[in-house]
Amino acid sequence: MIELLDGIYGFTGMIVGRVYAIRDPDGLTLIDSGLARSAGRIVKQVEAAGFKANDIKRIVITHAHVDHGGGAHALNALTGAAIMVSAAEADVMRGAAEQPRPTHHRINVLPSQFFKPSPVARELHDGDVIDDVLGGLTVVATPGHTLGHLSFWSPQRRVLFTGDVLLHTLGMRFPLPMVTISRAMCGESVKTRIAPLKPDALLFGHGPPILSGAAARIDTFIASRGL
Ligand SMILES: [Zn+2]
Repeated sequence: MIELLDGIYGFTGMIVGRVYAIRDPDGLTLIDSGLARSAGRIVKQVEAAGFKANDIKRIVITHAHVDHGGGAHALNALTGAAIMVSAAEADVMRGAAEQPRPTHHRINVLPSQFFKPSPVARELHDGDVIDDVLGGLTVVATPGHTLGHLSFWSPQRRVLFTGDVLLHTLGMRFPLPMVTISRAMCGESVKTRIAPLKPDALLFGHGPPILSGAAARIDTFIASRGL
């Protein structure tokens, strides 16, 4: 894993989707898990950086799609880390419900979003604070890509983990309509939930991070889309 910002790391070779690790005195927190088959690679990279597998204390999921939460089950088995996800998507992680699919496309490209049962230790709600992470990591509901989609904000560090409400692949963009419940809702989330935070850094679910000056980039994006 590569240190992107002080104590904040990104993993390499995740195939699809980005996974981040945050270092705190009590151990590591992962933002998203990647695909199930990336779990071994994540643990290897953690160990290569001088940590132990069971230093991973928690896995915080932005949304229950397989490229973001599909590896939670496997990582939990390897490390014992506590899985946290929005209350709205907890049953998807538990394997008790299927992630709702977009209904506005006749052809549905999403693979089955049934998950191997993952023990959910904590269900998250908008405004919750995960205490031990970066001095308090705030849960920000950013619905649109999925209905229970969450982003995670560190007021101390002014870093936002966006998930898939906004991607950074060949510039900022919204996620593909065919895998997204509502792009209009994504736009609202970016405008009303993300822009007011004025983040310095954005760590995306897809695409390279923006490590400084992110607020101006968001404002430019909002203006360009007429939001
Ligand atoms: Zn994604």
